[in-house]
Amino acid sequence: MENRIPRADESHRFQAAQLDMPPRLLLGPGPSNFHPRVRQALSMNEVGHLDPSFIHLMNEVQELLRYVWQTGNRFTIPVSGTGSAAMEATLANCVEPGDVVLIGVNGYFGERLCDMASRYRAEVRRIEKPWGEVFSPEEIKAGLERHKPAILGLVHAETSTGALQPMESIGRLCREFDCLLLLDTVTSLGGVPVLLDRWMVDIAYSGSQKCLSCPPGISPLTFGDRAMARLAARKTKVANWYLDMTLLGKYWGDERTYHHTAPINMNYAFREALRLVAEEGLESRWERHWKNAKLLWDGLGDLGIRCHVDERHRLPSLTTPVVPDGIDGRAVAGYLLRNFNIEVAAGLGQLAGKVWRIGLMGFNSRAENVTLLLSALEKALSAV
Ligand SMILES: *Cc1c(COP(=O)(O)O)cnc(C)c1O
Repeated sequence: MENRIPRADESHRFQAAQLDMPPRLLLGPGPSNFHPRVRQALSMNEVGHLDPSFIHLMNEVQELLRYVWQTGNRFTIPVSGTGSAAMEATLANCVEPGDVVLIGVNGYFGERLCDMASRYRAEVRRIEKPWGEVFSPEEIKAGLERHKPAILGLVHAETSTGALQPMESIGRLCREFDCLLLLDTVTSLGGVPVLLDRWMVDIAYSGSQKCLSCPPGISPLTFGDRAMARLAARKTKVANWYLDMTLLGKYWGDERTYHHTAPINMNYAFREALRLVAEEGLESRWERHWKNAKLLWDGLGDLGIRCHVDERHRLPSLTTPVVPDGIDGRAVAGYLLRNFNIEVAAGLGQLAGKVWRIGLMGFNSRAENVTLLLSALEKALSAV
């Protein structure tokens, strides 16, 4: 027995202290704080990934997702991983080498879409706007005419800029040009109106840790009939095994075939987060996000701070206030974290050093958080 147990190398063994994370109020671009009921759901008994009780839960998660997304799409599932995994899954499945993919780039996440699409060997074309602006239907139409893409990818809520892309007539244009419409709804889902079927969106994805107030690690995607037809007609295998929906669809569909072990407890948490949305009702939730954002915008105005994005296209779930002249934006964010346990983020890319990014997402979109942030910000501005 003794010589069956080899000597372990003890050099990396240490007495780690008990974990004690600071109680942050997460008012940045995500993650947002999760709801206490989500925390409770996360700690429920573990079951197997083919357990009847889990299969029942999977069906509920899919149906709640259809409500939250306002879609009848049968293929609506959560992917194991963060929003970027769902983003990558949409491209990996819908792009075949050589496909022209047109991306609207007006922020950081449009850039990420271009990068990912190119890795699946798409021929990536871009239409561009300065960070903080949105695309008009005419600009989209001109892009479709010029590039004749197989897919148009847009970011509904650009978390890097605080702009909300109007979606009313774009789906119809895409049908006219026989192009699939792919929409990033990571920072809009559960916070601002997302009407997938009305907007004729074919492919969409989101994340859990923004307006749905669930920990990061599970991210939904949905494919409409046109996207499913594209998937069925593929000439090449999906180049990413883990995110291959032709395989994963068999686990989430009727066959229940093992592909990879679902993150069981994350699904519990996600179900609870979606249940909270259904309980509140989408309309009330959209109104709450809108009202609290307005409260923030008015309060910033009182402090003499203006917002980077024109009010017509301003995103309620993420605001980008302009850092006043002579103020070090990063120092203010540092002060808020050290003195108030409040996280806000600095700008990035074209907006680096120019704005802060303040999120009022899901459970965190509450009047008391706005009041607290504004008074903390006032202190920080005179302290740094
Ligand atoms: C956060 C975010 C993502 C990526 O999500 P991760 O969870 O960080 O992987 C994608 N798109 C937008 C618009 C986002 O805000």
